[in-house]
Amino acid sequence: MSEQIKLGDLTIFMQRKRVKHIYLRVLVPDGRVTLVAPIGIQLAVIHAFAVSKLPWIQKQQTKLQLQVREAPRQLVEHESHMLWGCHYVLQVVEKPAKPCVLLDQQSIILQVRPGSDVSKRTAVMHAWHKSLLHGVVPDLIGEWQERLDVSVSAYFLQQMKTRWGSCTPRARHIRLNTDLVRKPKNLLEYVVVHEMVHLLEASHNKRFVALMDRHYPAWREAAAELNQIPLSAVRPRG
Ligand SMILES: [Zn+2]
Repeated sequence: MSEQIKLGDLTIFMQRKRVKHIYLRVLVPDGRVTLVAPIGIQLAVIHAFAVSKLPWIQKQQTKLQLQVREAPRQLVEHESHMLWGCHYVLQVVEKPAKPCVLLDQQSIILQVRPGSDVSKRTAVMHAWHKSLLHGVVPDLIGEWQERLDVSVSAYFLQQMKTRWGSCTPRARHIRLNTDLVRKPKNLLEYVVVHEMVHLLEASHNKRFVALMDRHYPAWREAAAELNQIPLSAVRPRG
C-alpha cells in the first residue's frame, strides 16, 4: 500500500517496508519522488526527513528537467517539436536547394539538401529558431526598456545548458536561451523581464523580488511553468 506525503506542490509516494533506514529517490525520467520507510517509524519523523531533503530533491528534479529539455532531436520525419508552446510534427523534405524551414498549421517543414545529416539539420533548425526569436525579442526589450526605465545595450541568443537567460549589468547585456522558442511567448517575456530587472538589481534579493512583483506580478507562475511543466502537458494551439 502506498501513501502520499504532500510538501507544498511536491508529492512523495511512500511505502513502508522492512528496512532499517529511510530511502528517498527521485525517479528518471519524470522526477517522481518515492520514499521507503521502516514499518514502525512515525509519520512526523518521515515528514521531517523529507523536508530536510527538499533542497536535494529540487536539485535532482531540475537536473532531470534539463536533461529532458536537451534530449537530442534526430530531426527525422514525424518527430514532435514544440514551438511557442504548441506541438508540431516535423516533415523533412530533401531538395537540392538552399535549406530552409517552413511552418504550416500542424507541421514544421524542414527542407534540406539530400543526404544532410543530423548535425546539418540541427544547424538549419537552430538558425531558424534564432531568426524567430530575433523577430520578437527586440520589441519585447523595447517595450520593457520604457516600462522599467533601463536600457539594454545588446542581447544575445545562445544555447544554454542550465539557465534560461543571464544578464551582465555592467555591460547592460542580456543573453537568452534559444530553447525559449519552444515555450509559450509569455514565458519568453518573463525571462526577458527577469534579465532586464537585473539592470536595476543584480542579485536575487528582496529588492529584486519586490521589483518583479511590481512590474511582472505573474512572475511566480511563469517561473513555475517554465521549469516544471512536462512538454506533453502543454496545451495545443487553438
Ligand atoms: Zn536572475
